[in-house]
Amino acid sequence: MGNSGLGQVSFSSLRFFSTTTTATLAADLISFCSEGLVKEAFEKLRFHIWADPSLFSHLIQSCISRNSLPLGRQLHSLIISSGCSSDKFICNHLMNMYSKFGQLQTAVSLYGVMPKKNFMSCNILINGYVRSGDLESAQKLFDETPERNVATWNAIVAGLMQFEYNEKGLSLFREMHELGFFPDEFTLGSVLRGCAGLRALHAGRQVHDYVIKCGFEFNMVVGSSLAHMYMKSGSLGDGEKVIQAMPFWNVVAWNTLIAGKTQHGYPEGALHHYSMMKMAGCRPDKITFVSVISSCSELATLGQGQQIHAEAIKAGANTVVAVISSLISMYSRCGCLKDSVKVFVEHEVGDLVLWSAMIAAYGFHGRGDEAIELFEDMEKSGFEANDVTFLSLLYACSHCGLKEKGLELFELMVKGYGVEPSLEHYTCIVDLLGRFGCLDEAEAMIRSMPVKPDAIIWKTLLSACKLHKNADMAKIVAEEVLRIDPRDSASYVLLSNTQASAKRWQEVSEVRKAMRDRNLKKEPGISWLEVKNQIHQFCMADKSHPDMEEIELYLKELTSEMKLRGYVPDTGSVLHDMDSEEKEYNLVHHSEKLAIAFGLMNIPAGLPIRVMKNLRVCGDCHVAIKIISKIRNREIIVRDASRFHHFKNGICSCGDYW
Ligand code: ZN
Ligand code: ZN
Repeated sequence: MGNSGLGQVSFSSLRFFSTTTTATLAADLISFCSEGLVKEAFEKLRFHIWADPSLFSHLIQSCISRNSLPLGRQLHSLIISSGCSSDKFICNHLMNMYSKFGQLQTAVSLYGVMPKKNFMSCNILINGYVRSGDLESAQKLFDETPERNVATWNAIVAGLMQFEYNEKGLSLFREMHELGFFPDEFTLGSVLRGCAGLRALHAGRQVHDYVIKCGFEFNMVVGSSLAHMYMKSGSLGDGEKVIQAMPFWNVVAWNTLIAGKTQHGYPEGALHHYSMMKMAGCRPDKITFVSVISSCSELATLGQGQQIHAEAIKAGANTVVAVISSLISMYSRCGCLKDSVKVFVEHEVGDLVLWSAMIAAYGFHGRGDEAIELFEDMEKSGFEANDVTFLSLLYACSHCGLKEKGLELFELMVKGYGVEPSLEHYTCIVDLLGRFGCLDEAEAMIRSMPVKPDAIIWKTLLSACKLHKNADMAKIVAEEVLRIDPRDSASYVLLSNTQASAKRWQEVSEVRKAMRDRNLKKEPGISWLEVKNQIHQFCMADKSHPDMEEIELYLKELTSEMKLRGYVPDTGSVLHDMDSEEKEYNLVHHSEKLAIAFGLMNIPAGLPIRVMKNLRVCGDCHVAIKIISKIRNREIIVRDASRFHHFKNGICSCGDYW
């Protein structure tokens, strides 16, 4: 700060005023202030200021917009010497200024000595308390204030919602309504945010009716908050309807729509709306970028992700922590760990979120040692790991088979850092134990942990049972999953495959029958890859791809070549009632094999083939892809439902555990 800072303030503040006398006066005044000649400024301009005390409010505003507390203080002295300090309007402006500069105590003392207060004085102070996080004092002042206007109610309702006292905020809103206050767009916006926070769809719908009654339906602020409320409360369709009905879409409306699509698992929809947004001439902001970058992660569309990265740089959004961290995970999820590292190193702005994102990226790629190394660097740099960091670390350990290290970190987290383990942390540990065949230990952990197990943690153990061919335990564990989620077809499939690999055909057909009885179908395996910016999708039963004939021919040749190199199709987990040729046909046509064949046919030699799959890669495909990577001398990267597999030269980075 110092004098140079004040000098800058004075020059840029000149633009603030038009070329009237007031403007000239203001310019002179600011210029004097910046040189510290407060008294002289006042002496010179005394007459005019008496004539126009409102000049001070302009000056205070310009101090706020220039973010200069020292200049503000000087102005305050000038105001005191001018005798205007008891003017309630000027006093309100000063209180507002001090509270915006974080000098709440000064604002409070000003409020205390004000001879005459109005609505504004109280509202400014309530807002100031809320801003400084002192909700209690805000509430106290609100209760003590007999005269309230809509802004008073807004200030307290918004404050309560901001600190997620949603229920209390909603009940105050009801009270406000009963007392006959007519809410404005800001009240309704806050109230809807509160409903969204509570996922209170029913209350939200009531507010919606009220919004229509008040005629705020097409208001930008209210409309976007309404749509956001619906989307947060699980109703994407209603949210879209609200946005669609709005006559004009601003960036907030677009963001609400795009984020809704992303959060509800429609990444294609999010990207589609993103291009419509650009076509409509609306400039994306950091919130847009976070949504669309995570949609690219979801779809693993590297080409599009890179393009959006370039657009974020152009828009200057690439220095925002949330954008950087979504870029780190996007590159990781698209299989380009190197680019994640590049983004991380370029932007090492020292934020815990970024360290955690990078640790997670290493974990996702099975690079446990690097993840741990980074964690150690992070600790050395003085960052304190939180629950998210530890989750990334435990995930990395469980995916890399670092059992001892994983258990050690879990203990460090609980005892050293005092972080309460969540269900996700326990799931990682169960995965870690399960991988090493410590099935009893894993089961004991689930049964003794203080949090309630969900279907996912049991399914994690079920996968371990399948891997270690423990059919007895699989049965017990599957029952636990199905008790929580009776329609989980994946668990039935896991169980039947476990029984099949133990050659318990009777049990297999029982499981299949149970599935049929409940009308459950196995979720079809779908794989996709991007070739020349276009997504090609493959599904076992679906022959709709235009090149399917060539692909089948190619696969046939490839399979015989593979067999010469020792590949034996593993038909163990395919239904036993087929003859062996039929089983083999089924295996050959697993979606990931189709996608890889298409990639080999269309992606130039030397470039890696990146395939995504919605389910886990099956054992047979895993063996097959290892051999393909060797005989075709190709790097093949497969992202399945649980992790990344880097196949190169006949081996996979997962070490055959997934
Ligand atoms: Zn397969
Ligand atoms: Zn693998």
